Amino acid sequence: MGWANITFEIQDQVAYIGFGKNEEKSVTVLNKETLEELNAVIDELTNNENHRDLSGVIFFSHKKDCFLVGVDINLISNLKSAEEASTGAALGQEIYNKIEDLNINTLALVDGVCMGGGLELALSCRYILASDSNKTVFALPEVQLGLIPAFGGTYRLPLKISITDSLDMILTGKQVRASKALKIGLINEIYAKARLMNMGKNFIKNPSHYLRNKKKNFKSSISSIVQDNFLVRKIIFQKAREKVIKKTVGLFDAPIKILEVIEEGYGKGRASYLNLEAKAFGELWSSNQSKNLRDLFFSIEKTKKFPGIGNMNFEITNPTKIKSSAVLGAGTMGGGIAYLLADSNLNPILKDINIEALELGLKKSSQILYSNFKKKRMTKDEWERKQRSITPVLKYLGFNRSEIVVEAIVENIEIKKAVFRELEEIVPSNTILASNTSSLSISEMCSDLKNPERFVGFHFFNPVHKMPLVEIIIHDKISNLVLEKVYNLALAFKKFPIIVKDSPGFLVNRLLGPYITEMTYLLEEGVGIHDIDRACLDFGLPMGPCRLLDEVGIDVGFKVSDIFYKAFGERFRKSALADKILALNVLGCKSGKGLYVYDDDSASESDSDRDDTSSSNERKSSNKRDDDSSSTVENIINPDIKAILPSKKITLEPRTIQMRLILPMINEAARVLEEQVVSDAATVDFGMIMGTGFPPYRGGPLKHADSEGLDKILNAMAEFTKNVSNIRYQPATLLQKLAAEGKNFYN
Ligand code: NAD
Repeated sequence: MGWANITFEIQDQVAYIGFGKNEEKSVTVLNKETLEELNAVIDELTNNENHRDLSGVIFFSHKKDCFLVGVDINLISNLKSAEEASTGAALGQEIYNKIEDLNINTLALVDGVCMGGGLELALSCRYILASDSNKTVFALPEVQLGLIPAFGGTYRLPLKISITDSLDMILTGKQVRASKALKIGLINEIYAKARLMNMGKNFIKNPSHYLRNKKKNFKSSISSIVQDNFLVRKIIFQKAREKVIKKTVGLFDAPIKILEVIEEGYGKGRASYLNLEAKAFGELWSSNQSKNLRDLFFSIEKTKKFPGIGNMNFEITNPTKIKSSAVLGAGTMGGGIAYLLADSNLNPILKDINIEALELGLKKSSQILYSNFKKKRMTKDEWERKQRSITPVLKYLGFNRSEIVVEAIVENIEIKKAVFRELEEIVPSNTILASNTSSLSISEMCSDLKNPERFVGFHFFNPVHKMPLVEIIIHDKISNLVLEKVYNLALAFKKFPIIVKDSPGFLVNRLLGPYITEMTYLLEEGVGIHDIDRACLDFGLPMGPCRLLDEVGIDVGFKVSDIFYKAFGERFRKSALADKILALNVLGCKSGKGLYVYDDDSASESDSDRDDTSSSNERKSSNKRDDDSSSTVENIINPDIKAILPSKKITLEPRTIQMRLILPMINEAARVLEEQVVSDAATVDFGMIMGTGFPPYRGGPLKHADSEGLDKILNAMAEFTKNVSNIRYQPATLLQKLAAEGKNFYN
């Protein structure tokens, strides 16, 4: 019998089941058809008399660098109800149970990514061998979708490795390389990529021969006996629970549910354990949190392809690769951008007007490259080659060969305009000119250029190598080809690009503006700095607005506020207290003192000279906060600030503080949509999750507004308009319109 999605062959009394046979995509997923075929093949192996003499089964992949990435998320998202989700999980479990119950040797040969349902399949085999490729990684990432692994992963992993290591993998979804997997007992051996299949063929005939000199596996170790003790287990689970609560403020359901299942199921028989797992999958699947995280997954997938610009009327053209580049300005941002270009093999020239700055910029990019080498993300040769590929210059040497120049010099429109005019005379007419400005008008910047169509805003966030978002700022005259090239370049940097129209603050900083402004009013009313920041942490944000302002720099943050005030008027007027704070001339983390006082360590942790209101929130799409983020509210308040805060203190409910700060953000998001600064609500939410760490399980400010209910949001705003400010809570037209029509941002 032939199969469309998998291969099934018998050679020398061994059955070979191969995945990824026909898929055009670069990764192989377990879709419905593949699972059905797998089920049928296993039934055939179990029931067909002709296979009685088989000595083993090998599962492998035809796909380069990918064993299996897991169950198709479309399949998961198309489920109709919690019951259907639980039943679907149970069906998958049944297939994997049948694999586990085969009374012959079963072996997974893993070369490349082995995640989710792929790892669960490998776990149901008796043995797992892996290649030494640095692409070979193991993970159960379901928690990142607000789900529990439900094809037996939470049952089988703790049977193979320690509970502590299991929880570490399942609760975080983190990827484990082959060497670590071997160390913790997840796999049996590592072989060179080229020899993996041959070694597998030999291994399956006589596993004990290959394993005889190996250390005993985890199950026969002392630690395993120790964890069998009820009290020890209790402590392990207690500690894991505390860690989860600390990282998620107890707001994220999936890890808590996963812990419940593993703790309750521990020691139970397979059938009753798997029941618990399938039921939990159904419950989590039907939660809003999981839905939001699945949508985020699809948004991420969407950004991986140049979108064309939908209602912004741009055409799609063929992508062309850029191979040579230059960076202007070797400061905080320039050094980071030079790193990205070198890492993507674009041989950057790095220019500054100041030799010390040039040295510093070069040092910065070198440090990041070196740390990648140290973390085994690149070989020594790669590191040295990439390092050598950055050419520091004080004059425009070599710029005539650059296909793109990214400017990251001082934030001054006149200086930038003059520099671009100068550049225009030096570089070829088809060189792309990009500015990393965080607040200046892109249209204005290219207004004097002979070829404005090659000009684009390329807004990175600080620190460049860590922040996943890039805003690509467009203007009326930009060429489609330039836009597409820059978009693809951002993808080559492994960033998530979003396309944003030229407008003050673009997307992310614009939405952070009212959040910071409102904070200054709360302070003026007598609400405590710690209370404000704690309420935001409790909402799930990576840091509160007081700490954020310190990270950004008080001077810079308020300068951006003034730009917004000029552009959008009264709703952006900061409080009188903000002016008093500014007058104190404390700058924030970079000077060791802002609203809080920082010791040397915490001050040096933050990148100095940030001028980006979103810069410090480098929490990516993580569902958790950094361990140190809660220390925000433990920092000591600057006594100089304390002295100018109102003596009369007031206490507001955390929920009220949250609403006071988040509603203006939602309102501004509605305006941004109205003005078509970005194309749709999903892009607003995606930008805020990736650019500021807005809790991903809440889906972003607009999805959060939808799930709270737009009527409720409007009522709260009306209340604040009456009691707090009749300007700052005036609802955006779009918000009112949607609520009046009984609609949401997402429909
Ligand atoms: P920075 O002050 O750290 O670095 C600017 C560098 O440009 C300095 O080394 C300076 O010597 C150099 N320079 C000035 N004029 C030059 C010229 N004519 N040619 C070459 N080099 C020149 O500044 P930064 O923080 O890296 O910011 C650079 C740009 O990036 C600004 O437009 C800023 O708004 C934007 N940006 C900054 C951040 C941030 O958080 N720092 C975030 C996003 C965007």
